[in-house]
Amino acid sequence: MQWETVIGLEVHVQLATRSKIFSGASTAFGAEPNTQACAVDLGLPGVLPVLNEQAVAMAVQFGLAVHAEIPEVSVFDRKNYFYPDLPKGYQTSQMYHPIVGAGDVEITLDDDTTKRIRIHHAHLEEDAGKSLHEDFHGMTGIDLNRAGTPLLEIVSEPDMRSAKEAAAYLKAIHSIVTYLGISDGNMAEGSMRCDVNVSVRPKGQEAFGTRAEIKNVNSFRFVERAIAFEVERQIELIEDGGKVVQETRLFDPERDETRSMRTKEEANDYRYFPCPDLLPVVLDQAYLDHLRSQLPELPADKRARFQNELGLSAYDANVLSASREMAEFFEEVHRVCGDAKQAANWVQGELSGALNRENLSIQNSPVSAQQLGELISRVLDDTINGKAAKQVFQALWNGQGESADAVIEAKGLKQVTDTGAIEAMIDQVIAESPAQVAQYRDSEPEKRGKMIGYFVGQVMKASRGTANPQQVNGLLKEKLDALL
Ligand code: ADP
Ligand code: MG
Repeated sequence: MQWETVIGLEVHVQLATRSKIFSGASTAFGAEPNTQACAVDLGLPGVLPVLNEQAVAMAVQFGLAVHAEIPEVSVFDRKNYFYPDLPKGYQTSQMYHPIVGAGDVEITLDDDTTKRIRIHHAHLEEDAGKSLHEDFHGMTGIDLNRAGTPLLEIVSEPDMRSAKEAAAYLKAIHSIVTYLGISDGNMAEGSMRCDVNVSVRPKGQEAFGTRAEIKNVNSFRFVERAIAFEVERQIELIEDGGKVVQETRLFDPERDETRSMRTKEEANDYRYFPCPDLLPVVLDQAYLDHLRSQLPELPADKRARFQNELGLSAYDANVLSASREMAEFFEEVHRVCGDAKQAANWVQGELSGALNRENLSIQNSPVSAQQLGELISRVLDDTINGKAAKQVFQALWNGQGESADAVIEAKGLKQVTDTGAIEAMIDQVIAESPAQVAQYRDSEPEKRGKMIGYFVGQVMKASRGTANPQQVNGLLKEKLDALL
């Protein structure tokens, strides 16, 4: 039997507001436990929430970025449940009238094809506090700093058909929210987490199978691994004559498996009702138009422009538009050197390699976009050859010079294109290598091309890497062949 996987994601994005969604307490990450939760976040009697306007603006910007309908009216509801990290006894969320309606997102797959994933809706809600199980032997610590942090929950339609598509979707959401600057997207700090809904059905069947929901998966890699495990579990279960039950499961990265948390029967009845303390949110057209006018160029548009206007391959366009910082760096390099392909090669090659080696993000690159652009210009105008360019890059990386020109000057890396000078070096190398010359002369003509490499190496060495390699090659061949 052939099986098809069906996946829908609920992505929680912490919005990058300075204060909480309903209070003035700070949202900064990493503070001492319980120093950033105020009476409103704790739900003490007599307090009233005040909606953070910035959270609304950020949610709407997201909606506009995914081509969603933005309803004129949205409403906050109380989702009632008891948990130690939720002292209010309810989470303020949006159940029936979310702030963002149906939209869609374009994802890019490994073979550089694209696919549209529909978004069902996105709603605003508050985050809960955190239960800490380590360091509290036999007890649980409660840190309420996170309570009241604004969350945008983005609910997809069950449109994904593989773990790879799910990861690509999560990456697309990550890149949209970071382009918009509405979240720092830091998954390690919990700024983006997702619940993964997975089911399987026989290939060709239209009706969906029963799904399991895997809670709180917090990395791209874990999303793929959790789905891979879950798909296998469900298929095995069905093929052994069993039935998938609708339940909530937990992914355990240590064991690489999902485990049941609770089944549908044990599910909470949240008794949703409109929050009496908050007014409905009413947005007018002028407000939407204003926010629309502030949208930056988004990843999908950038990707298309890099391909169509700059002539980059789909692969390059995709890599370079994945993050806003990467895209802006590349665009600056391109602006300085004027050659998109070279700019793309250097940013993805030498620069990304060095950044990865030292575990640096592109914002912290020791070589600036301006410096890299100038360096590429010097290759393009033949001031230096490719080999010297790598030396210049390394020098700039190590802070041994302000600019490519300064490094070229200081290290004497200017390319030697003077035929006379190159010929003199060649004559010397030939004079000092009688054995190799004899070998060259005695080889079959078709093997000589290969042997020339030795001489090229020697001449390049003699020039300390500055000779023009094409000229060296051509002149060497002439001179050696003259000796035959
Ligand atoms: P609930 O109301 O129980 O939260 P929803 O209908 O809102 O359920 O769906 C929650 C998420 O589960 C959505 O992202 C949706 O795409 C996904 N989903 C729904 N049905 C399936 C299914 N059969 N297989 C996989 N994902 C599903
Ligand atoms: Mg749901």
